[in-house]
Amino acid sequence: MKLLENLYCYIWPGRGNNSNSYLFANALRGDRPHVIIDPGHVVNELNERCLEHLLSDMERDNLKPEDIGLIINTHSHPDHCEANQALVERSRAKMGTGKAKQALITIHEEEMEHLAMMGALMARFLGKETGFEPDFYLREGDLNLGKENKISLKILHTPGHSPGSISIYWPRQVGVLITGDVLFYGAVGRTDVPGGDGKLLKRSIERLSELDIEYLLPGHSTEFGSIIKGREKVEQNFAFVRLNYFPML
Ligand SMILES: [Zn+2]
Repeated sequence: MKLLENLYCYIWPGRGNNSNSYLFANALRGDRPHVIIDPGHVVNELNERCLEHLLSDMERDNLKPEDIGLIINTHSHPDHCEANQALVERSRAKMGTGKAKQALITIHEEEMEHLAMMGALMARFLGKETGFEPDFYLREGDLNLGKENKISLKILHTPGHSPGSISIYWPRQVGVLITGDVLFYGAVGRTDVPGGDGKLLKRSIERLSELDIEYLLPGHSTEFGSIIKGREKVEQNFAFVRLNYFPML
């Protein structure tokens, strides 16, 4: 679904677990102009075909997987990045003129260090391996996605759910914030997973609350909803989680 010019949202509608995906269309120069955030599971614990579902929704919006040039992961949990490799392979189907022969994968460096240390434990905890290699690391600060249409993102290192969790802020026109599993509609990310830290999560959420946010796009939906639209509702959500979750973190 198109949310704004250049920005598409794919809210997971299934019964089992999977992340929401977000896509910046026509953001990069070259043959593969789209950027996807958290492509999610290939197949989840209820055998729902998550990736097929995403691709058919993208097709409805006239977006092709072979046109994806960059995959950004908010963190390394398989419900956010299991489909990375499948998308890279789809991107190889397209011949290009540029240097990149396939979609690139990126994630925060601390997340990969955490994975290297905790990989086996994580796989046991989450029931799946996270089998991908990033092509480069994300850093706190600006990430400019190409000169022509100037989609300039800010990467915020927001640990707490995992050590290298990032949030992605798009300040242009209206403030758009993609939070991964840091913050949801009426809830926060789990801190009882390997690498989770309640104190850090609180600090990360407080940091996000200082941004000017018109659209908050979380990694998962809750009973309250998925996308939070409007500054007032976003502020109410920060107040709600401060009141109801912070004492437990
Ligand atoms: Zn997660």
